[in-house]
Amino acid sequence: MTTAKNLAQRLARPELLDLQIYQSARRIGGQGDIWINANESPFNNSSLEGVNRYPECQPSALIDAYSRYSGVANNCILTGRGADEAIEILIRTFCTPAQDAIATFGPTYGMYAISAKTANVAVTALQLTDDFQLPSDYASQLDDCAYNANTKIVFICNPNNPTGSVIAKAELIKVIDSNPERIIVVDEAYIEFSPEYSVADLVESRANLVVLRTLSKAFALAGARCGFLLANPDIIDMCMRVIAPYPVPLPVSDLAVKALSPQGLLTMQSQVDDMSQQGLRLAHALQAYGATVVNAHGNYVLAQFSDKTTVQQKLTQAGVIARSYSDSRLADSIRFSFSNRSQTDYLISLFSASN
Ligand code: PMP
Repeated sequence: MTTAKNLAQRLARPELLDLQIYQSARRIGGQGDIWINANESPFNNSSLEGVNRYPECQPSALIDAYSRYSGVANNCILTGRGADEAIEILIRTFCTPAQDAIATFGPTYGMYAISAKTANVAVTALQLTDDFQLPSDYASQLDDCAYNANTKIVFICNPNNPTGSVIAKAELIKVIDSNPERIIVVDEAYIEFSPEYSVADLVESRANLVVLRTLSKAFALAGARCGFLLANPDIIDMCMRVIAPYPVPLPVSDLAVKALSPQGLLTMQSQVDDMSQQGLRLAHALQAYGATVVNAHGNYVLAQFSDKTTVQQKLTQAGVIARSYSDSRLADSIRFSFSNRSQTDYLISLFSASN
């Protein structure tokens, strides 16, 4: 008798189901003092203890620390090289090249489409409404698109990059619950700036929900490359078949565990509060200048200008590098990341009446 497949098994690329996962020396492990099973060096030439040895695939101290912080159970957490690696793993786990598709709601973070296209996976590019909400007929748009049943993953970025807009939790729950045979990925890279919108508390009860997180934004560790995929254990199990054997370098997990310590969390929270305040000041200055500003829920504000070329020249002359967009819906817009007080003062002075 064959047992019924769970959702993750039904949606995964079929060849993963009986894949014998790579048995790294670290995974096989053992008891004893003489470790000669991984072709490592016995010499440690660094002050960092253990760096001559391969790290754990999923460093337990890091998983424990993220579990304490997020309130999500250890067996529902996968860590790797940033949320970007999680996006790629999801596509490689669930989408068969030249057959399956992902769906996105633009304008949004560009890496969903790039990761898909580099894997020869199609992109159903749907559009958010004028006020950056899900279109009311998104379900029929998904059903009617060329890939319909082959649209395995729907990416929703919340708060959305680059608009800074948010979708209400109740709306997200509707999407999750009305698409039981698709993976709904909610990318919460910026959630520390609007924590009340998080759906991470639902990963244990929803078989099709994946939440992406990162230490690159609020935790100030973009250079370390550390992110998290939160999902039920069936999805984690499938993704573990695809992830690299040692995705988290030892110095990175050390840095990340410190950032997630009680002291690290206090630092993060006070910096988030400070950046949010500076961002509000900047948004007001941009509005006073005449820009149309989207209500910001991340650590950036999207501003639309009637004189974008002039603004760009002004910024360039002042040595300010902000993010300008060329795609049609954002052609007049510039995204400003929030910064510290002194840089915000400087930016505000550029947009004040006398400049
Ligand atoms: N998701 C969103 C919405 C982002 O803006 C970014 C980074 N720009 C990422 C994911 C990638 O984050 P990480 O640095 O963890 O790879």
